[in-house]
Amino acid sequence: MTRLNNLAILGSTGSIGRNTLLVAESMPDLNVWGISGCRNLDLLCAQSLKLPGAYVVAANTEEAEQYSFLDSLQTRLRIGMEHLNWMASHPDVTVVLAAIVGSAGVTSTHAAVGAGKRVALANKESLVMAGHILMPLAKKTGAQIIPVDSEHSAIWQASLAGRKSEIERVILTASGGPFRGWSDEQLARVTPESAMEHPTWNMGPKITIDSATLMNKALEIIEARWLFDLEPEQISVMIHPQSIVHSLVEFQDGSVIAQLSPPDMKLPIQYALSFPDRIVGSAERMDWSQRLSLELLPPTGIQSEALSLGFDVARRGGTSGAVLNAANEAAISAFLAGEISFTEIIAACREILQQHEFRPAPTLADVMLADAWAREEIAKWIGV
Ligand code: NAD
Ligand code: MG
Repeated sequence: MTRLNNLAILGSTGSIGRNTLLVAESMPDLNVWGISGCRNLDLLCAQSLKLPGAYVVAANTEEAEQYSFLDSLQTRLRIGMEHLNWMASHPDVTVVLAAIVGSAGVTSTHAAVGAGKRVALANKESLVMAGHILMPLAKKTGAQIIPVDSEHSAIWQASLAGRKSEIERVILTASGGPFRGWSDEQLARVTPESAMEHPTWNMGPKITIDSATLMNKALEIIEARWLFDLEPEQISVMIHPQSIVHSLVEFQDGSVIAQLSPPDMKLPIQYALSFPDRIVGSAERMDWSQRLSLELLPPTGIQSEALSLGFDVARRGGTSGAVLNAANEAAISAFLAGEISFTEIIAACREILQQHEFRPAPTLADVMLADAWAREEIAKWIGV
């Protein structure tokens, strides 16, 4: 990079946000212009003290107003959700790292894309809900949406080996989560504590549960469909327990290009920020002195159930992405609160998706209505 880039990190207190701050330390051309958080205000304050001059958005008004330490930030502080859009679209910001979790991230991603920014996108839920809006908007404004999700970063990187028109299919890899090979009976007894123990990745709570149910991969099928403009039939999933091969691209001549690296999000974050350059950074490196065994296995019955929801939504589009995503977020909260069992997360999502009144070309406002509807339906489903 030749000029100083101003970076806004939306969700700096989360797992991706914290990793982004580490990555930024090894990128002297990058200036952290702004950060945001929602609930973990101690950490947000600690981060802001290390970044004199950076703007800070505390998104949750109620919490922020009770937290007097924020006063010390004075003019650098903005309180309330609406300031996320202000930060995402500010003229001085050149790069936005969208790392808010869940549907709460969609409006600020939309603001960043609308303002023509480079958007390093971790918040896959934005594309699941509104890919049909965000991708055409990016074309119009010149925004560059570069994936941070490791699989999509791998596809992005592997795609550079050929032309877009030469891509025959992409193969998303999935670790399979902590319950790979478990029976239905065993899965029905999974506790929130055990679902939070991911074997290879260290991530925030929502995506950790998504990885255990394989809903994460369902969301990633939809994400890939929008990012790379693929037909659902061009997307496959393989279980890869080692989490070293992050995804593969098969070209029409039969050549398959993969991207490999240890399971460390610092690399895809850094690449989304430095693209098209590859720079020396702090991501973990492969150890080529050790024997390396890599497995790629087709998904089995129970794993395919969650994936089929992803393929259905990738095929249908419209409001189905918002409904699946919101149903899943609400079902995860219910599971973590002990209100439903682990296997009911996917069952509830399937049912709500079937019930919903499909709209083929929803606006962002329609998408938010579909989101709210699905959450209400999950509440009713639990109440039954
Ligand atoms: P996390 O829970 O660790 O962090 C979430 C961040 O979002 C926090 O900063 C939190 O303050 C903020 N936030 C939460 N609710 C908010 C709200 N209502 N309004 C504003 N801000 C809010 O999550 P994470 O694991 O860092 O994941 C972030 C995103 O990146 C998710 O979309 C996830 O799917 C995606 N992702 C994460 C990983 C990973 O390794 N963690 C990998 C790939 C993709
Ligand atoms: Mg991923």
